[in-house]
Amino acid sequence: LLIEVVEEQQLLAAEKQITLSLHLVDAQNSDISPELLDNWFTLAGNWDQLVRLFTNLIGNALKYTPASGRVNVELARLEGIHRVSGLRYSSAQLQVKVSDTGIGIPSEALPRLFDRFYRVDPARTHITENTACDISTGSGLGLAIAQAIVEHHQGQIQVESSLGKGTTFIVTFPVSLES
Ligand code: ATP
Ligand code: MG
Repeated sequence: LLIEVVEEQQLLAAEKQITLSLHLVDAQNSDISPELLDNWFTLAGNWDQLVRLFTNLIGNALKYTPASGRVNVELARLEGIHRVSGLRYSSAQLQVKVSDTGIGIPSEALPRLFDRFYRVDPARTHITENTACDISTGSGLGLAIAQAIVEHHQGQIQVESSLGKGTTFIVTFPVSLES
């Protein structure tokens, strides 16, 4: 699914001369090849919704990153062992990070970021000058929709950002282990 979504956005990335890449990593954080993904894990979910989710996040990353920046999408499987009443249980999570080298988000905006119709003031713009980064239009719905989709899949969405340096959205889903 991510391969498809990233492929779909390559044209937009190329227009802005942004390098858009997808990495699949294992627990050791080393790259693995897509062929190994069969039997890696199963995420039961709604295909169209998940396409919408990652299209919104990658679309934002491209929109809020000036020309010649980078957008990196990373998919990882995290595994953990936890104990309940002396018994060991293993659990796994699928984690997708969408990172960009864009304009960043001021910390005071973070609490409202996933609210419907919320947009960081587009007039905050030393940014748009000379950067071919048009942030003036948008409905402020993309992240509200993204969050609803994540919650529909029992997942979590978090954001880390550094103003003027870039932003990372982290989406985590519980998955069932194939064995
Ligand atoms: P649309 O509904 O068309 O997606 P939008 O992009 O303005 O409009 P959201 O996707 O919900 O709305 O994002 C809300 C706000 O969060 C944006 O207006 C922008 O200010 C900020 N934002 C979202 N993603 C990023 C990002 N990767 N880098 C910097 N700011 C971001
Ligand atoms: Mg958006």
